[in-house]
Amino acid sequence: MNDINITAYGATDFVGRSSFLLHDRDHNILLDCGIQLVPKQMSIAPKGVDNIAHKVDSVLLSHAHIDHSGYIPALSKHGFEGNYYMTHPTKEIVYKLWLDHLKIEGRRHWSESDLDKVFRRIKTTEYEKPFKVADGITARLINAGHVLGAAQILIDWEGTLILYTADINDRITPMFDGYDLPDEKVDVLLIESTNGDRYVPERSKIDVGLRLMAKQITDEKNKMLLPSFAVGRSQETLITLALDDDLNDVPIYIDGMINHMNMITEHFLSDKWVSKRFLSQLKEAGLYSPFEKQNFIPVPSISNRTHNSRKYISKNEEGSIIVTTSGMLEGGPIHTYLELCGTNPNNVLGFTGYQVEGTTGRDIYDGNKNITLQTSYGQPKKINLKAKVMKFPYSGHSSVDGLKAVMEKSGANEIFLIHGDKRNQEYILSFVKDIAKPRILKEAVPTKLVCL
Ligand SMILES: [Zn+2]
Ligand SMILES: [Zn+2]
Repeated sequence: MNDINITAYGATDFVGRSSFLLHDRDHNILLDCGIQLVPKQMSIAPKGVDNIAHKVDSVLLSHAHIDHSGYIPALSKHGFEGNYYMTHPTKEIVYKLWLDHLKIEGRRHWSESDLDKVFRRIKTTEYEKPFKVADGITARLINAGHVLGAAQILIDWEGTLILYTADINDRITPMFDGYDLPDEKVDVLLIESTNGDRYVPERSKIDVGLRLMAKQITDEKNKMLLPSFAVGRSQETLITLALDDDLNDVPIYIDGMINHMNMITEHFLSDKWVSKRFLSQLKEAGLYSPFEKQNFIPVPSISNRTHNSRKYISKNEEGSIIVTTSGMLEGGPIHTYLELCGTNPNNVLGFTGYQVEGTTGRDIYDGNKNITLQTSYGQPKKINLKAKVMKFPYSGHSSVDGLKAVMEKSGANEIFLIHGDKRNQEYILSFVKDIAKPRILKEAVPTKLVCL
């Protein structure tokens, strides 16, 4: 018997730098290769990947988020010569994110020429179409319900079935109807545990609150700032606003990388990638794309005009909504908008996503009013935030009940909890004893997948 092992280079009992090597005597398959973003500091590379890159047969990427993809271009630099497999939307999105990463951190981990090498070796694939990744090993991508193009990866390793969920969502979201599960029972399950101790409210309930507040705030001629993650949450928020006819006359300004991501999303509005329910909603609303609504206004990104546009948007008399990056207020146009609108107590700053400890977003979320902004001229500026803070508890990750359902339905005897903090994982361990005894990996320590 040729034992299959797993070695994690990150995302064991924390979120960040997801990267897992499945290996036996003859094969090495790498699942994801992300970096870990650290508030106010440079990102961290997955530790140890450089040394094994040369022997990897294939790399499979679950989705574009940088904590899963950010280190991939470094693999070519360190000797990887195989192919990268991912969905077509992931390829389009991740390319933008990689370019953005170069702008933010420069060539710390990899350079433009490494990026070129990756692009020559990407193979795109659809959901539910098995493909060969090494001799005796096939893989299949399965809809994850997380962001556009996001996949779970099912691997048939000489008869042993391994399901890597990466990031999954069980909830109905504007574009997806939750994750799919393979029909066959699997032997090994690698499952994320981000919301291991959290029940996520039904999205439709949060949507009602968001729409009501948006209407009320803008009727009173005030501004609603919605900092959002460029991939996923911003499209969801915009779709929620687009499909509410009560907001048809409210100007909705879209600033930053979100506009590029909206364009990419428009290329994939087919039932291959988004739910049929969403497509019929669009049809009913008479829209080809949710982002083509008359009241949606992309802010021009030509640098000498951008600041004037932002000033105009912030200071005019109209009630409006501004959807912009970054989602955790670690930089981006939101800082300029906060500088211009944040000291007016009638305006609202609405959080639409989880705020990681140590970020400016988390500081404000926890009640801090004295914040330091990076202005568009690169100067730090302190302000006393007077705008009201509202919280809309969306999550891109599966609720704890959705995680439990995967563990039960997968049939796996071996379960590994990944991509979640210790508290989440301990909570899961306390209630899944009857299904299997999940294990938690140690970084850079090879662990046998199946205990015989
Ligand atoms: Zn993700
Ligand atoms: Zn993730």
